[in-house]
Amino acid sequence: DAADKKSRLLEVNKVAAGYFYMKLRSPAGQHGLAYLKGRGLSDETMKNFGLGYADKYRNDLYNYLKKKGYADDLLKDSGLFHFDERRGFSDKFWNRVMYPIMDASSRVIGFGGRVMGEGEPKYLNSPETEIFNKSRNLYGLHVARRTRRKNFIICEGYMDVISMHQAGYTNAVASLGTALTSQQCSLMSRFTKQVLVIYDMDGAGVKAALRAIPMLRQAGLSTKVVDLKPHKDPDEFLKAEGAEAFEERLERAENSFMFVIRMLEAEHDMSDPEDKSRFFHECAAKIVEIEDEIERKSYIDAVAARYNIDVDLLNSQVNKEALKGI
Ligand code: ATP
Ligand code: MN
Ligand code: MN
Ligand code: MN
Repeated sequence: DAADKKSRLLEVNKVAAGYFYMKLRSPAGQHGLAYLKGRGLSDETMKNFGLGYADKYRNDLYNYLKKKGYADDLLKDSGLFHFDERRGFSDKFWNRVMYPIMDASSRVIGFGGRVMGEGEPKYLNSPETEIFNKSRNLYGLHVARRTRRKNFIICEGYMDVISMHQAGYTNAVASLGTALTSQQCSLMSRFTKQVLVIYDMDGAGVKAALRAIPMLRQAGLSTKVVDLKPHKDPDEFLKAEGAEAFEERLERAENSFMFVIRMLEAEHDMSDPEDKSRFFHECAAKIVEIEDEIERKSYIDAVAARYNIDVDLLNSQVNKEALKGI
């Protein structure tokens, strides 16, 4: 039955993770090991995250699992292979360092594989399977759920999570190469009240943050946004500046609403009166979306102070916006 099938798929993924893990520590995996060490990961960190290596030989894993007696029907649904009527099975992952993806109970449900150095695609992930639902899991949650830190950190990538954990930030998780989902937000809300958003310091990262903020709010999570500039992501920041400087950036995290306003500002020419007025109208429209009246008043004060506009004027504009919605 279905439960039985799931447990067999979990077993295959676990055995595969063990195989990749062993490969990384074998002569065949030296290339992968050197790559991960070159990225600053300690043996302990690699062990904690069960990192591995998929060999260059295309059917390495398939042959291994067949020898162990797993049936083709099961392997077909495991997400670990390509299957083609004519050519049969071939390993999906080869010549990549492997990041097992664990669910909240530390069971391996899929993999991310990274090419070493340059190459396309940079990351290859397991497809959705009966046990792997990307939108319902977070990378690193099996550790983060037990963190003693007061909040969670949401970031983009596997390496970001791993580097932050190595630096002591065991509260870091990543959405799995997809945009953050509402299920992932409510998952986090089971373990924390506050989330720090640390997405990449590029256009895609800002866009992703602007999408994530209302969803986190919807899940009842207080949200702040961390600035890592001039570095690109948490992994690169930690490597360049270390944990102490990172901690400072976390402490200086910006209220997510004020971040949204600042991004809005960037779209306007504030030296042009007409454009500036449009900006304040848009601010008012954003402020109206805040349901809590006290919080709304704070944002009116904060925006007025930051952009040098009369509080009463902004307030009356917010009230006009509120009437529009009725
Ligand atoms: P690295 O530091 O190893 O270069 P990164 O995490 O900084 O990787 P990004 O390009 O910022 O890489 O991507 C963020 C995340 O998005 C990755 O960790 C991965 O989960 C996912 N991702 C990136 N590229 C791809 C891809 N080509 N296909 C699927 N997922 C991807
Ligand atoms: Mn990115
Ligand atoms: Mn990145
Ligand atoms: Mn990176």
